[in-house]
Amino acid sequence: MTTPSMFGNDPAEAPTAGTRFAEVAVNAGQPARRPFTYSIPDGLEVAVGQAVFVPFGPRILQGVVMALADATPLQAVRPISAVADPAPVLDGPHIALARWMSDEYLAPLWDCVACCLPSGYGQKAVTMVSPVDIPPLLPAYPKDQRILQYIAANGRVSIEALREAVGQVSLTLLDRLQRDGHLTVAQGLARPAGRPRMERRVALGAAPEAALAQADTLTERNAKSVEARLLRHLAAHPDVTLTETRELGATPGHLRKLEAGGFLREYEQQLERDPLADYRFEHRPPPVLSADQAAAFEAIWAHPGTTLLHGVTGSGKTEVYLELVRRTLEGGRAAIVLVPEIALTPQAIRRYGERFGETLTVFHSQLSMGELFDQWYRVQRGDARVIVGSRSAIFAPVPNLGLVVLDEEHEWSYKQVDPQPRYHARDAAERLCGLTGARLVLGSATPDVVTYHRSEVGAIKRVELLQRLSPGTDGAVSEVALPTVTIVDMREELRGGNRSIFSQPLRRAVHAALRQGEQSILFVNRRGSARFVLCRDCGYLPVCPSCEVALSVDVQSPVSTMLVCHHCGRSRRLEDRCPKCDGRRYRPFGVGTQRVEQEARAYFPGARVARWDSDVSGQKGSHERMVQSLESGEIDILVGTQMLAKGLDLPEMTVVGVVDADVGLSLPDYHSHERTFQLLSQVAGRAGRREKPGYVFIQTYEPEAGPIVAAATHEYRAFYDDEIAHRRRAGYPPFNRLVRLIFRHARQEHALEEAARVANELRIGRDAAGRAEPDVLGPTPAYIPRIRGEYRYQVLLRGRNPSRLLELVRLGEHWHVEIDPPSLI
Ligand code: ADP
Ligand code: ZN
Repeated sequence: MTTPSMFGNDPAEAPTAGTRFAEVAVNAGQPARRPFTYSIPDGLEVAVGQAVFVPFGPRILQGVVMALADATPLQAVRPISAVADPAPVLDGPHIALARWMSDEYLAPLWDCVACCLPSGYGQKAVTMVSPVDIPPLLPAYPKDQRILQYIAANGRVSIEALREAVGQVSLTLLDRLQRDGHLTVAQGLARPAGRPRMERRVALGAAPEAALAQADTLTERNAKSVEARLLRHLAAHPDVTLTETRELGATPGHLRKLEAGGFLREYEQQLERDPLADYRFEHRPPPVLSADQAAAFEAIWAHPGTTLLHGVTGSGKTEVYLELVRRTLEGGRAAIVLVPEIALTPQAIRRYGERFGETLTVFHSQLSMGELFDQWYRVQRGDARVIVGSRSAIFAPVPNLGLVVLDEEHEWSYKQVDPQPRYHARDAAERLCGLTGARLVLGSATPDVVTYHRSEVGAIKRVELLQRLSPGTDGAVSEVALPTVTIVDMREELRGGNRSIFSQPLRRAVHAALRQGEQSILFVNRRGSARFVLCRDCGYLPVCPSCEVALSVDVQSPVSTMLVCHHCGRSRRLEDRCPKCDGRRYRPFGVGTQRVEQEARAYFPGARVARWDSDVSGQKGSHERMVQSLESGEIDILVGTQMLAKGLDLPEMTVVGVVDADVGLSLPDYHSHERTFQLLSQVAGRAGRREKPGYVFIQTYEPEAGPIVAAATHEYRAFYDDEIAHRRRAGYPPFNRLVRLIFRHARQEHALEEAARVANELRIGRDAAGRAEPDVLGPTPAYIPRIRGEYRYQVLLRGRNPSRLLELVRLGEHWHVEIDPPSLI
């Protein structure tokens, strides 16, 4: 990208006949959702998708041209200052995608455009100070003198550099010096943070014999000639880095002399930063697909739109994706494969690398800015045509997109929470595929209820793979059984005198596994804190009658303990005894991983116990180390949270115990049943993935709960039928859409007041427009009522198109707007 040294910062003028205009998304640091109109000066070639510089108030800012126009209704417009790069940075589909995101998620247009740009692309405007050719006499003040001396020595510098050198420098001071003719002040651009990494090199510019002859001549004159030494080195190694020549003692002077004599040539070369540099992929031919897999592939390939691939864990979905990618590449098009961030393991990358090594790249949040920058251009050039990555990889600038795969499509990590835009990668993918004509495949063992519903009503196609596969040693596959799942009623355990957190059946199974040298998982569901209440005797759980979500303990309440519904605000006092069975064991619930680890050591002496939760998994490489210790059999019992539900594929893993299956079930969120079902199915899927059968124990106080029974019997359909009925009754997605508005403020009264004001305005606006929907629920304290000293109140909108109502109110900067929130807690 070329950086103009100085810009015109022209005033607005009435457009003249024949003027053309550009609609520009501007990086203005303000939440504008529309582009700004600029005129195109005569002689400037401006195209859609180009990065440009435009005047904005007193500043010059970067923007991207979203559209061109022959007319404008505006009275006066300012001209574009400069084109940053003649090659467009965005193509048509990505421009349309950015505009769609801005509309759909009510997000600033620039933030949506920025998603599609290379990392670190943005350039900040800075004040630049330059010396003048013929300066007047030095001024009297020492500070002035120091400034002028500094720019005389360093040329054009930024105000920051100047301040670093001479201390505080005000704009007023610079202005005075400029008026007196000592220097010039202008808006310039800082170097972009993301840029190619260049390496300077030196190559031999003559025949090696000629270089050696010249070296001899030089040595005759001076036995210690550095130039001679360099020439001899180059004769043997004709292309070296500049650093290497420095190590031989060569100075820029030496190089210049030799270059003038035609003996060498200095040049720059771009170094590509490659996140896969440490991988060595062995090429592997694809296996022969099973009949089911081949049928699934054909059905997806025959359908140009969106397909849900519903396949149980280990049913060979990934092999189907790989075949889809292969055929897409064969057709000359490119593919993006999205996986949840925590599933982006070296094992997953290796699987794609073995098939598509040369043309594979990865995009995820752990890459350096430089790596992302270089890979972005590699994709744009068409050199990388398979992109595996987490949600943001959907914005990779693929020129000829033919396929997008979203693996584990139900994962809520596909929804970006912060910063803006709060997009869902699945919806963005569907939009992009519509714009490019690419196929979209959504894969999951436990599809999102909304996705499955779409396949039921025929909005998308559905293909099923219902048999678990296991690769044999001879390369052939065999079908294996899903694990045997036992639901353990913890109320019975209590009645039988077992007060520990492990039931008798689970203990026996873990002991048996230990004797056989097999591995076990003890899974703890940590998503709920001890905020909900449960009766240990009868399993009763207090639920809001109108929202069908669990009531939770209101930690804000100053007097007695209150139960509150975090959707509608309904509350009641927490009873001393269970309202259903009058039992005394009615109280808040929850158990942590550390406690489970301790108990596991106590109950299974001699076993090697390891813990894996967010405390442990933070360190870089921890995932790989943990998988390695598991694979090499250094761990007998693994205690952990959701993280270990994903991707672990271990032959010796035969027992899975879910310590507290109820936790997720009772979270005050309409997704709670769905999440519980998904989680239990995923965790259960870790056991018995090879010939050895797997045994899963789900410990619960609610053994009849629908999601638990469905997970235990591997019946997605049973779960779905229950869940969709509940969603229909209570008016949740897919029957309505939700918008969550959260207001936060340090003063509680103010927070509540503002939240109530907005809720009221929305209700009044809705009624005045004669609309029956959306429902406006709240304000209520958010599930986490206070974060970093700020009180949080939420308002929920529920309706077919609830975001349209937001056009009626002005939301200040303390408001946080979430369209289709992935969670209400
Ligand atoms: P999923 O993605 O549904 O969890 P995978 O594609 O990972 O399933 O398949 C499960 C296991 O079976 C993997 O180890 C995979 O390598 C193996 N596998 C799947 N399909 C075949 C096949 N057609 N031939 C040989 N091995 C296969
Ligand atoms: Zn309620």
